[in-house]
Amino acid sequence: MGLFDFAEGREGYYGKFGGTFLPEILHATIEELKACFRECKNDPSFWREYVELMQSYSGRPTPVTYLPNLSAKLGGAQIYVKREDLNHTGSHKVNNVIGQGLLCKRLGKKRVIAETGAGQHGFATATMAAKFGFDCTIYMGAVDVARQRPNVFWMENLGAEVVAVTDGQQTLKDAINEAMRDWVTNMADTHYVLGTACGPHPFPEMVSWFQSIVGLEAREQILAQTGKLPNKVFACVGGGSNAMGLFQGFLDDDVELIGCEAGGHGPESHQHASRLAYTDASLGVAQGYKTYFLQNEEGNMNETHSIAAGLDYIGVNPIMAYLWEQGRVRFDAATDDEVRDALRLVMSTEGLIPALESTHGFAKALQEAAKMNKDEIVLINMSGRGDKDIFTVADALDDNKWKHFISQKAAQYAQEKNS
Ligand SMILES: *Cc1c(COP(=O)(O)O)cnc(C)c1O
Repeated sequence: MGLFDFAEGREGYYGKFGGTFLPEILHATIEELKACFRECKNDPSFWREYVELMQSYSGRPTPVTYLPNLSAKLGGAQIYVKREDLNHTGSHKVNNVIGQGLLCKRLGKKRVIAETGAGQHGFATATMAAKFGFDCTIYMGAVDVARQRPNVFWMENLGAEVVAVTDGQQTLKDAINEAMRDWVTNMADTHYVLGTACGPHPFPEMVSWFQSIVGLEAREQILAQTGKLPNKVFACVGGGSNAMGLFQGFLDDDVELIGCEAGGHGPESHQHASRLAYTDASLGVAQGYKTYFLQNEEGNMNETHSIAAGLDYIGVNPIMAYLWEQGRVRFDAATDDEVRDALRLVMSTEGLIPALESTHGFAKALQEAAKMNKDEIVLINMSGRGDKDIFTVADALDDNKWKHFISQKAAQYAQEKNS
């Protein structure tokens, strides 16, 4: 079962999920993008150029690391992690933006725009734009601009214009709407670098294709290191891009695939971002595509919550929704508390610092690994690193010494201003 055999008949549909639901005015632009994507996919030299660039610019292939201490401590399956945290900009997001950068060059466009919530995707896009020489505008909710200063700092210093969106709740959803408005106005010279494997076709399939580099590498690496395939593969799921990336390496194998969503304060709380593991979500059309959304009966989107900003999203990749419906991918959710505990355990036993997003995958994998046999293998996608998110992680761990340091820093700046 190859991934893109799913689109039976209707291009861009995976069972009942997917599609392209966009205003008529974007028709020509999206058709141009679809045609360019098909051309790139059918051209082996495009993929070769992509892989070579990822090797020289982002350190690929990222390793698969064995975690002996943690495996021994839990007493069950042998635990391995795919190290997407070692990429340039600290996560798998660079795989997508570099791919879209190459595609943008082929489209002959000179300007890129992107939406960003926590700022990770905006940061990666600004990096790519600087490298390729594109003009770059990043749309970010004003609330997010205020609370994610470190990423805004980097985007601006990389040469991007960061627009603080003051509509609505001033967060990711409003940033997406504003980016769409820009695209409609400037489509002749502008490519919209969507941040995850969601939105209208061809984005879910295109972003999944770029991320498949993760799974292709990982399958070879785990076979070379252990002589066999893993029994279970875990990845966290926000929009679904890092999970689609790793899972594609094992879709045709007898390997169990588990997507780990943001359980927030738990299933009864309604304060979470779990579309498939919990039962709050329903089928709908929004943001250009059809999938399970966290929405109310009128189709208005719910407020979501997660300890990890990157998982805090209302929809889910339509291919993933289809794989779930078919029983090929199982879904589970880790709560904020489970994530905090797993992060402490992984840091102290292995000296690894997974991003809070990635730690959702660890939390579920560690619970299941403990109950497995010693000759079984678990593979986890470490989609990003936590040390670049020191502000968020320090908040999550509620570290008092950090708070003291920050208030001293603030006092020092206030004094400099007054003198
Ligand atoms: C953005 C992000 C995610 C969530 O996005 P997906 O598209 O679901 O992969 C996960 N991990 C990290 C480190 C991220 O930055």
